[in-house]
Amino acid sequence: VKKLKKTRRSRRTRKDEYDHDDEVDGPVIDESQLSAKELLGLQQAEERLKRDCIYRLKKQPRNYPSAKYACKLCDVLIESVAFAHKHIKEKRHKKSIKEKQEEQMLSTLPPPTASQIKAIGVAIENVVQEFGLSNEDLEERLNIKTVMEGVLHQKLPGIVW
Ligand SMILES: [Zn+2]
Repeated sequence: VKKLKKTRRSRRTRKDEYDHDDEVDGPVIDESQLSAKELLGLQQAEERLKRDCIYRLKKQPRNYPSAKYACKLCDVLIESVAFAHKHIKEKRHKKSIKEKQEEQMLSTLPPPTASQIKAIGVAIENVVQEFGLSNEDLEERLNIKTVMEGVLHQKLPGIVW
């Protein structure tokens, strides 16, 4: 429940932040000002950031014009590649990444093999043998039931069982 709530809230925040009325015209990063080497470096850095779910903004948000990147996992705006690298090292982001990876791992988990199913069956059987009812236990319980029925019949005659 906590998780759903969080997702809903962050989606709303994202929409507020990136609403088209709140955007400034013009590119977030003016690539024409960069040398070929700088551009290549930037592209490589951004490719690396994508693995951490950090993307360059399509438009600058009016309420935060210096923002150039956004972390989709943490739903935060980031001003530069350097700040993005700093953000990746933050506890909060690491936690988000870990949660995402766990989610992915669970959804791609292969179905159990026949031998795994058999092993689980054996394990359950062992528990039943150790903690389950024995035939004597069952007989004792049936005896108690019979005695109770007799008592109730005596005390409350006329009731249909
Ligand atoms: Zn993040």
